[in-house]
Amino acid sequence: MINIAIDGPSASGKSTIAKQLAKKLGYIHIDTGAMYRAVALECLNRNVDLDNETACYDVARVSDISLKTDGSIFVNGDDVSRLIRTDAVSQGASKVSKFKSVRELLVDKQRKIAAKKGFVLDGRDITSVVLPDAEVKIYQTADVAVRAKRRFDELSAAGFDVNYDSLFDELVERDERDMNRSESPLVKVADALEINTTHLSVDEVVNLVMGYIESRGLND
Ligand code: C5P
Repeated sequence: MINIAIDGPSASGKSTIAKQLAKKLGYIHIDTGAMYRAVALECLNRNVDLDNETACYDVARVSDISLKTDGSIFVNGDDVSRLIRTDAVSQGASKVSKFKSVRELLVDKQRKIAAKKGFVLDGRDITSVVLPDAEVKIYQTADVAVRAKRRFDELSAAGFDVNYDSLFDELVERDERDMNRSESPLVKVADALEINTTHLSVDEVVNLVMGYIESRGLND
Protein backbone atom coordinates (compact mmCIF):
# COMPACT_ATOMS: atom_id res chain seq x y z
CA MET A 1 0.00 0.00 0.00
CA ILE A 2 0.99 3.58 -0.64
CA ASN A 3 -0.05 7.05 0.47
CA ILE A 4 -1.47 9.65 -1.89
CA ALA A 5 -0.93 13.33 -1.07
CA ILE A 6 -3.07 16.01 -2.72
CA ASP A 7 -2.59 19.76 -2.37
CA GLY A 8 -4.14 22.72 -4.12
CA PRO A 9 -6.06 25.95 -3.65
CA SER A 10 -9.49 26.22 -2.03
CA ALA A 11 -12.37 24.43 -3.75
CA SER A 12 -10.20 22.90 -6.46
CA GLY A 13 -12.04 19.61 -5.86
CA LYS A 14 -9.33 17.89 -3.83
CA SER A 15 -11.67 16.23 -1.35
CA THR A 16 -14.02 15.00 -4.08
CA ILE A 17 -11.14 13.37 -5.95
CA ALA A 18 -9.52 12.08 -2.76
CA LYS A 19 -12.79 10.44 -1.72
CA GLN A 20 -13.20 8.72 -5.10
CA LEU A 21 -9.61 7.52 -5.16
CA ALA A 22 -9.93 6.15 -1.64
CA LYS A 23 -13.08 4.29 -2.65
CA LYS A 24 -11.46 2.78 -5.77
CA LEU A 25 -8.33 1.71 -3.91
CA GLY A 26 -9.97 0.66 -0.64
CA TYR A 27 -7.99 3.38 1.15
CA ILE A 28 -9.06 5.90 3.80
CA HIS A 29 -9.53 9.57 2.95
CA ILE A 30 -8.31 12.20 5.42
CA ASP A 31 -9.60 15.72 4.80
CA THR A 32 -6.98 17.75 6.69
CA GLY A 33 -8.83 21.01 5.97
CA ALA A 34 -11.68 19.68 8.11
CA MET A 35 -9.25 19.50 11.05
CA TYR A 36 -8.27 23.18 10.72
CA ARG A 37 -11.95 23.99 10.31
CA ALA A 38 -12.76 22.09 13.51
CA VAL A 39 -10.19 24.12 15.46
CA ALA A 40 -11.60 27.36 14.01
CA LEU A 41 -15.16 26.33 14.92
CA GLU A 42 -14.11 25.61 18.50
CA CYS A 43 -12.33 28.98 18.70
CA LEU A 44 -15.43 30.77 17.39
CA ASN A 45 -17.68 28.88 19.84
CA ARG A 46 -15.44 29.90 22.73
CA ASN A 47 -15.10 33.51 21.54
CA VAL A 48 -11.37 33.09 21.15
CA ASP A 49 -9.54 35.77 19.16
CA LEU A 50 -8.49 34.13 15.86
CA ASP A 51 -5.41 36.36 15.75
CA ASN A 52 -4.14 35.16 19.13
CA GLU A 53 -1.81 32.21 18.56
CA THR A 54 -1.54 31.06 22.18
CA ALA A 55 -5.30 31.10 22.67
CA CYS A 56 -5.94 29.22 19.39
CA TYR A 57 -3.24 26.69 20.21
CA ASP A 58 -4.79 26.07 23.64
CA VAL A 59 -8.14 25.38 22.00
CA ALA A 60 -6.51 23.02 19.46
CA ARG A 61 -4.66 21.20 22.24
CA VAL A 62 -7.73 20.46 24.35
CA SER A 63 -10.04 19.64 21.42
CA ASP A 64 -10.57 15.96 20.70
CA ILE A 65 -10.90 15.93 16.91
CA SER A 66 -11.79 12.65 15.26
CA LEU A 67 -12.37 11.87 11.60
CA LYS A 68 -14.70 8.98 10.85
CA THR A 69 -14.35 6.68 7.85
CA ASP A 70 -17.72 7.89 6.49
CA GLY A 71 -16.22 11.40 6.16
CA SER A 72 -17.91 12.91 9.19
CA ILE A 73 -15.92 14.80 11.80
CA PHE A 74 -16.47 14.99 15.54
CA VAL A 75 -15.11 17.46 18.09
CA ASN A 76 -15.32 16.50 21.74
CA GLY A 77 -17.98 13.94 20.85
CA ASP A 78 -20.19 16.26 18.76
CA ASP A 79 -20.74 15.81 15.03
CA VAL A 80 -19.62 19.13 13.49
CA SER A 81 -19.51 17.94 9.85
CA ARG A 82 -22.04 20.54 8.75
CA LEU A 83 -21.12 23.34 11.14
CA ILE A 84 -17.57 23.52 9.78
CA ARG A 85 -18.75 24.37 6.23
CA THR A 86 -19.91 27.96 6.85
CA ASP A 87 -18.10 31.01 5.42
CA ALA A 88 -17.09 32.18 8.88
CA VAL A 89 -15.41 28.85 9.60
CA SER A 90 -13.70 28.79 6.17
CA GLN A 91 -12.10 32.15 6.90
CA GLY A 92 -11.40 31.17 10.51
CA ALA A 93 -9.61 27.98 9.38
CA SER A 94 -7.40 29.98 7.08
CA LYS A 95 -6.54 32.24 10.05
CA VAL A 96 -5.76 29.60 12.70
CA SER A 97 -3.79 27.59 10.12
CA LYS A 98 -1.12 30.26 9.83
CA PHE A 99 0.05 29.54 13.39
CA LYS A 100 3.10 27.30 13.70
CA SER A 101 2.02 25.74 17.01
CA VAL A 102 -1.44 24.84 15.69
CA ARG A 103 0.07 23.37 12.53
CA GLU A 104 2.62 21.27 14.43
CA LEU A 105 -0.13 19.74 16.53
CA LEU A 106 -2.30 18.80 13.54
CA VAL A 107 0.61 17.75 11.30
CA ASP A 108 1.79 15.35 14.01
CA LYS A 109 -1.70 13.86 14.20
CA GLN A 110 -1.89 13.52 10.40
CA ARG A 111 1.51 11.83 10.14
CA LYS A 112 0.56 9.32 12.84
CA ILE A 113 -2.68 8.49 11.03
CA ALA A 114 -0.90 8.00 7.68
CA ALA A 115 2.02 5.97 9.06
CA LYS A 116 0.34 2.63 8.29
CA LYS A 117 -0.10 3.56 4.57
CA GLY A 118 -3.29 3.19 2.59
CA PHE A 119 -4.39 6.83 2.98
CA VAL A 120 -5.35 9.67 0.67
CA LEU A 121 -4.72 13.00 2.40
CA ASP A 122 -5.72 16.34 0.96
CA GLY A 123 -4.84 19.84 2.11
CA ARG A 124 -2.29 22.59 1.51
CA ASP A 125 0.95 21.17 2.94
CA ILE A 126 0.58 17.42 2.46
CA THR A 127 3.08 17.06 -0.41
CA SER A 128 5.49 19.60 1.08
CA VAL A 129 5.42 19.05 4.86
CA VAL A 130 3.11 16.32 6.14
CA LEU A 131 4.08 13.50 3.76
CA PRO A 132 6.98 14.66 1.57
CA ASP A 133 7.77 10.95 1.00
CA ALA A 134 4.27 10.03 -0.22
CA GLU A 135 4.51 7.70 -3.22
CA VAL A 136 2.03 9.80 -5.22
CA LYS A 137 1.84 13.59 -5.04
CA ILE A 138 -0.77 15.64 -6.84
CA TYR A 139 -1.17 19.41 -7.17
CA GLN A 140 -4.77 20.05 -8.16
CA THR A 141 -5.91 23.43 -9.50
CA ALA A 142 -8.78 25.02 -11.42
CA ASP A 143 -9.65 28.54 -12.54
CA VAL A 144 -11.04 30.60 -9.69
CA ALA A 145 -14.44 31.21 -11.33
CA VAL A 146 -14.90 27.46 -11.81
CA ARG A 147 -13.87 26.80 -8.22
CA ALA A 148 -16.34 29.39 -6.92
CA LYS A 149 -19.11 27.89 -9.05
CA ARG A 150 -18.36 24.37 -7.82
CA ARG A 151 -18.35 25.52 -4.19
CA PHE A 152 -21.60 27.42 -4.82
CA ASP A 153 -23.29 24.32 -6.31
CA GLU A 154 -22.00 22.07 -3.53
CA LEU A 155 -23.17 24.34 -0.70
CA SER A 156 -26.52 25.13 -2.39
CA ALA A 157 -27.18 21.42 -2.87
CA ALA A 158 -26.43 20.90 0.83
CA GLY A 159 -29.12 23.46 1.69
CA PHE A 160 -26.87 26.42 2.58
CA ASP A 161 -28.01 29.91 1.61
CA VAL A 162 -24.99 31.12 -0.37
CA ASN A 163 -24.06 34.03 -2.59
CA TYR A 164 -21.75 33.45 -5.59
CA ASP A 165 -19.98 36.80 -5.41
CA SER A 166 -19.14 36.51 -1.73
CA LEU A 167 -17.97 32.92 -2.24
CA PHE A 168 -15.71 34.11 -5.06
CA ASP A 169 -14.22 36.90 -2.90
CA GLU A 170 -13.82 34.52 0.01
CA LEU A 171 -11.85 32.04 -2.14
CA VAL A 172 -9.53 34.73 -3.48
CA GLU A 173 -8.88 36.04 0.04
CA ARG A 174 -8.23 32.57 1.44
CA ASP A 175 -5.88 31.57 -1.43
CA GLU A 176 -3.92 34.76 -0.93
CA ARG A 177 -3.52 34.02 2.78
CA ASP A 178 -2.72 30.31 2.28
CA MET A 179 -0.11 30.98 -0.43
CA ASN A 180 1.66 33.85 1.26
CA ARG A 181 1.87 32.81 4.90
CA SER A 182 5.30 32.09 6.36
CA GLU A 183 4.36 28.70 7.87
CA SER A 184 3.92 25.95 5.28
CA PRO A 185 2.45 28.06 2.49
CA LEU A 186 0.63 26.28 -0.33
CA VAL A 187 3.27 25.44 -2.96
CA LYS A 188 3.59 23.00 -5.83
CA VAL A 189 6.48 20.67 -5.03
CA ALA A 190 8.75 19.73 -7.92
CA ASP A 191 7.72 16.06 -8.05
CA ALA A 192 3.95 16.60 -7.86
CA LEU A 193 1.77 15.83 -10.86
CA GLU A 194 -0.13 19.04 -11.62
CA ILE A 195 -3.72 18.58 -12.74
CA ASN A 196 -5.76 21.56 -13.90
CA THR A 197 -9.35 20.39 -13.47
CA THR A 198 -11.04 23.44 -15.04
CA HIS A 199 -12.31 21.46 -18.03
CA LEU A 200 -12.24 17.97 -16.51
CA SER A 201 -15.00 15.91 -14.93
CA VAL A 202 -14.51 14.10 -11.62
CA ASP A 203 -14.21 10.76 -13.47
CA GLU A 204 -11.62 12.18 -15.85
CA VAL A 205 -9.44 13.39 -12.97
CA VAL A 206 -9.81 10.11 -11.07
CA ASN A 207 -8.89 8.13 -14.21
CA LEU A 208 -5.91 10.37 -14.81
CA VAL A 209 -4.59 9.74 -11.28
CA MET A 210 -5.30 6.00 -11.49
CA GLY A 211 -3.39 5.90 -14.80
CA TYR A 212 -0.50 7.77 -13.19
CA ILE A 213 -0.42 5.28 -10.29
CA GLU A 214 -0.42 2.35 -12.72
CA SER A 215 2.20 3.87 -14.99
CA ARG A 216 4.53 4.06 -12.01
CA GLY A 217 3.87 0.44 -11.02
CA LEU A 218 2.37 1.41 -7.67
CA ASN A 219 -1.00 -0.33 -7.98
CA ASP A 220 -0.28 -3.50 -5.96
O1 C5P B 1 -9.41 22.43 2.44
P1 C5P B 1 -10.28 23.44 3.16
O2 C5P B 1 -10.73 24.55 2.28
O3 C5P B 1 -11.39 22.78 3.92
O4 C5P B 1 -9.30 24.08 4.27
C1 C5P B 1 -9.68 25.16 5.08
C2 C5P B 1 -8.45 25.99 5.41
O5 C5P B 1 -7.57 25.23 6.25
C3 C5P B 1 -7.59 26.40 4.21
O6 C5P B 1 -8.00 27.63 3.64
C4 C5P B 1 -6.19 26.50 4.81
O7 C5P B 1 -5.96 27.77 5.37
C5 C5P B 1 -6.22 25.52 5.95
N1 C5P B 1 -5.49 24.27 5.67
C6 C5P B 1 -4.12 24.26 5.83
N2 C5P B 1 -3.43 23.10 5.67
C7 C5P B 1 -4.05 21.98 5.31
C8 C5P B 1 -5.45 21.97 5.10
C9 C5P B 1 -6.15 23.16 5.26
O8 C5P B 1 -3.52 25.28 6.14
N3 C5P B 1 -3.34 20.86 5.19
